[in-house]
Amino acid sequence: MLAKQAENRRYLVPVDTASTQQLFTDCLVIGAGIAGLRAALEAAQHCNVTLVCKGTFSDSNTQNAQGGIASVLAETDSFQSHIADTLKTGGGIADAAVVERVIKEGPALIRQLDEWGTDFDRTDGQIDITLEGGHSHARVAHSHGDSTGRGIAESLIRRVRQTPTINVIENFYTIDLLTDKKNECIGVIGQRPSGSLQIIWAGATILATGGAGRLYRETTNPECATADGLAIAWRAGAVLRDMEFMQFHPTTLYIAGASRALVTETLRGEGAILRDGGGQPFMKEYDSAGELAPRDVVSRAILDRMLKTGATHVYLDIRHFDKDHFQRRFPLISELCESFDIDVSKDLIPVRPSAHYMIGGVKTDKDAATHIGRLFACGEIASTGLHGANRLGSNSLLEGLVFGKIAGQSAVSIINGSKPEYHRMQIEVPPSDRSRLDAEDVRNSLRALMWRNVGITRQQTPLTEAAEIITFWQRYVMDKVFTAPFGWECQNMLTVAGLMAYAANERKESRGVHYRQDHPDRDDKNFAKHIELKRE
Ligand SMILES: Cc1cc2nc3c(=O)[nH]c(=O)nc-3n(C[C@H](O)[C@H](O)[C@H](O)COP(=O)(O)OP(=O)(O)OC[C@H]3O[C@@H](n4cnc5c(N)ncnc54)[C@H](O)[C@@H]3O)c2cc1C
Repeated sequence: MLAKQAENRRYLVPVDTASTQQLFTDCLVIGAGIAGLRAALEAAQHCNVTLVCKGTFSDSNTQNAQGGIASVLAETDSFQSHIADTLKTGGGIADAAVVERVIKEGPALIRQLDEWGTDFDRTDGQIDITLEGGHSHARVAHSHGDSTGRGIAESLIRRVRQTPTINVIENFYTIDLLTDKKNECIGVIGQRPSGSLQIIWAGATILATGGAGRLYRETTNPECATADGLAIAWRAGAVLRDMEFMQFHPTTLYIAGASRALVTETLRGEGAILRDGGGQPFMKEYDSAGELAPRDVVSRAILDRMLKTGATHVYLDIRHFDKDHFQRRFPLISELCESFDIDVSKDLIPVRPSAHYMIGGVKTDKDAATHIGRLFACGEIASTGLHGANRLGSNSLLEGLVFGKIAGQSAVSIINGSKPEYHRMQIEVPPSDRSRLDAEDVRNSLRALMWRNVGITRQQTPLTEAAEIITFWQRYVMDKVFTAPFGWECQNMLTVAGLMAYAANERKESRGVHYRQDHPDRDDKNFAKHIELKRE
């Protein structure tokens, strides 16, 4: 489906490559979460790699991942079971071949992480595995209790730093992909830490820029998750798919003014109870699986309870947990609760849902290739087909790991096959005579609008209203030339928000994480398919 946006700009900044600093690399990896790090390590065995990220290594969704990484690690478990759970959660539109591949490649890559120094929690030498909602077997490996993402990232970063063929540039903001007449990606324009523009020419480029949670007022995602890669790929002509599917996490700490820290669902797996403001447990009223129901069901149940009771949040009750076990098993949450004087053996933990994981993204094939030559995508930015309409918990780290490796391999084969033709590019951006809006105000208002109108439950009128307001903002923001990431991020957020509102309006049914109050049923006749968007 061709989609148009107000101010259909191809590039955000004017540039003449001849008078801009230039760097040449075989393979450029954009993003240093699990997907980008794993891709860089794979490619670096065969070619020179440049790995860039917009903040430091510590700013990524990966560093914040808590619960763990799912894979078949127990003899009592089976690939068939993990595949069946993933397909069931995917709401009928997951890609069975992709699901099978990711799940079957998982165990070996997790053992490799173990060899590379990821400090997985163990008992009697065996990696511990936990049961999580939606999984029919215990299969979620974790590191330092609820610091799994950090545990994995640290071991990958150590290895990246020890690899002489990887050149790391932190604080490098990628602004746009450079594409040629053959629709091939031949590099990027970005901003160096010093503030000057920089061209990086590359034989292959891997986008691993993560998610889009910061488009919402309430989110578990760190500051980097402003959907840059999605907008960058869109401007370059990539196909974006499933943009209506944003997964909300049911339980994030709700303390006004504090960031929305995630309270992992493993707690519910281990017996935590959700209670409303009156102290009543309510999940069984919504689903027979109670607290272990899938994320989207729990998120909607909480929202419904909040609306019915006029409350801003509900509570998670773990007063019956063994306090020592809780502190050992969930050190991050334990510390977080203590920092707000919540004594979990006596007090309830205030929680509410937040935007968590972007299921949709840049459409890729089985080799992580996009519709643009020499451009690959992996991790949360990619739409591989693994998750369908809903993501099974702990499957995203797994996807980043497996497709990171695949993207690295694919980049190497394209570099070995042929060289790109680099040539001077002169990019002009017409001056704007429209008024200037305050980017900070637009960002905040956009996040509130997305939460209100394109949130956990959706319907036609608010979606149409959101699309109209976003189009209005786009007219006044997309035509400007910014000189720093804050403005470019605002342009990227507006672009992606517009696509999400559009796709959410198009899908006139409820499936997976996408719930339409005006179309509450699943409609397989008309919508057992993906919505794909491409720039007009
Ligand atoms: C709080 C939280 C808990 C989670 N828990 C789990 C869990 O237990 N299990 C699980 O499987 N998943 C979990 N997830 C989801 C999972 O962490 C992510 O889906 C996954 O880590 C994404 O990895 P990634 O490599 O694709 O992107 P990220 O880890 O987000 O990395 C993105 C990288 O791209 C860079 N970048 C972005 N834009 C630009 C730009 N313009 N220029 C240059 N660089 C750029 C960033 O700097 C960053 O380095 C959780 C997520 C959150 C937020």
